[in-house]
Amino acid sequence: MNRIFLSPPYMGGGEQKYISEAFESNWIAPLGPNVTAFEREVSELLSVPYPLALSSGTAAIHLALKYLGVGQGDIVLCSSFTFIGSCGAAAFEKAGLAFVDSEPETWNMSPRALEKALAYYDGIGKRPKAVIVVDLYGQSADWDGLLPVCARYGVPVIEDAAEALGASYKGRMCGSFGDVGALSFNGNKLVTTSGGGMTLCHTKEQYDRLLFWATQAKEPLPHYEHREIGYNYRLSNICAGIGRGQLEILPEKLRRRKAIFERYKAAFEGTPVRVMPVSDQGIPNCWLTAVTLDDSAGVTPAEICGHMNTLNIETRPAWKPMHAQPVFADCKAFPHNDDGSFFCETVFAHGLCLPSGDALTTEQQDMVVSEITRII
Ligand SMILES: *Cc1c(COP(=O)(O)O)cnc(C)c1O
Repeated sequence: MNRIFLSPPYMGGGEQKYISEAFESNWIAPLGPNVTAFEREVSELLSVPYPLALSSGTAAIHLALKYLGVGQGDIVLCSSFTFIGSCGAAAFEKAGLAFVDSEPETWNMSPRALEKALAYYDGIGKRPKAVIVVDLYGQSADWDGLLPVCARYGVPVIEDAAEALGASYKGRMCGSFGDVGALSFNGNKLVTTSGGGMTLCHTKEQYDRLLFWATQAKEPLPHYEHREIGYNYRLSNICAGIGRGQLEILPEKLRRRKAIFERYKAAFEGTPVRVMPVSDQGIPNCWLTAVTLDDSAGVTPAEICGHMNTLNIETRPAWKPMHAQPVFADCKAFPHNDDGSFFCETVFAHGLCLPSGDALTTEQQDMVVSEITRII
């Protein structure tokens, strides 16, 4: 039996056409018309004027941090409940990370915990250089709760919308909320370029600065003069062609993922399995359906993963909070709960991500549901 993955790539057909065009015109490299068009298409979709296509979401966040002047010894705040891609780049620049807990409504950054964090740094006279806010599992953070807090303390925001392309909050698209935004087109994301990312810039000045760093910081002289160190971070014209084909089927992808989410929700009704909360403030892209297991389930997420793995079905525990990661053992963290405990630790202890790929069949989904309910 073929393995059922969490979120495998799903192609619409147009991808091949754009790749063929690149081959026929020998525009294999560098950059090229697919990159330009892909950027324009994302710009129109998200209403962000200057997207910059890059080789990964990690690169996108790295350049956003550099743009905000993050360097050695600076403090960068980040959602604790996320994938390391959100914050690892701050360590590239030798910044100090501190983590902010989640709220129960969306599992995203808690405005209350953020307020505690910013008040703490205000108290010691050290203003963080940036706050990285994640739209987790394809659901928007509570921007009306978070942005005023950041504005009050004068700290710029990087929106990590790596998992949330196509999701919205009060009618506005995820990716457009921060001073700088970031997307990922990694293989498991809703829209993939096989590997890629994008920084979402709001000004031409921002775009030009990031483009300079993304292309080896070449001064505009024919012999390539260098006054600082840059990176080789651009997306290839071939990969951008895949992205263009993927955008053509984005509405279909959103429809399919939502249907999968709704089927899980209905199927687990009345069981100790609860699908993730969805706030009525926004529309998620349903990238992954995550669930939590009530204590009455009598099994842990790890036990379910182990069992499902023997059936060749991929499931995965919820993200382990960054503040609990050995590599960040020295970092400060700010809880949502008044008793000092972390809400996101509860989600991690009980959370499980289920197969949610566009092409998941109802038969496969029925099997996932029946196997989980059977072990419970
Ligand atoms: C995937 C992901 C990233 C990193 O993107 P890459 O393209 O894999 O570098 C960053 N943040 C979140 C929340 C992600 O899920």
